[in-house]
Amino acid sequence: MHDILERLANLQRMEIRAFGVRYGLQPVQIEALTYLTQCNRYSNTPQAVGEYLGLTKGTVSQSLKVLERKALLRKQLDKQDKRMVHLTPTPKGKKLVEELMAAKGLKAALESTQSLQVDELAHVLRSALRGMQHLNERKTFAACHTCRFHEHQQRGSVCGLTHEPLSEQDRQLICREHQYPE
Ligand code: SF4
Repeated sequence: MHDILERLANLQRMEIRAFGVRYGLQPVQIEALTYLTQCNRYSNTPQAVGEYLGLTKGTVSQSLKVLERKALLRKQLDKQDKRMVHLTPTPKGKKLVEELMAAKGLKAALESTQSLQVDELAHVLRSALRGMQHLNERKTFAACHTCRFHEHQQRGSVCGLTHEPLSEQDRQLICREHQYPE
């Protein structure tokens, strides 16, 4: 199992590298952009990008500069805390990630497999991922609706940490503050 996962990860990395060459982007820059299309408003900071990808501050900063220069990303100051920067993919950046997802990568291969098997496999892999994150004391960065702070209230979903309302889209996004229920 371990060697299969390694080979899949290697192949996926090769495909990302080949895709990036077409746009003059390094794999790390594509991975940062992809993360920013999937994370919520609490997690779209340079620090969170570094935590998610396991990168140093310097590498993150260089990657974000390239993405900004290519108009794939824009920076905005936080409305309350002017020291904080939020990173938002532009329509061009989102389109690039959509193209990547549609390319002949792991997603396409999984879609050609029977859905029942894919669901079972996703369950097993999610549990392995969770176990590895726990063992290594890493943040989970999972979907908001699976978080222990996610609350269902009469007026809709609310984040129990920030007490802010969560839209249906927010519920699907990944978050750096996410924690699984005990
Ligand atoms: S409920 Fe959890 S995952 Fe969702 S926004 Fe709040 S802390 Fe993040």
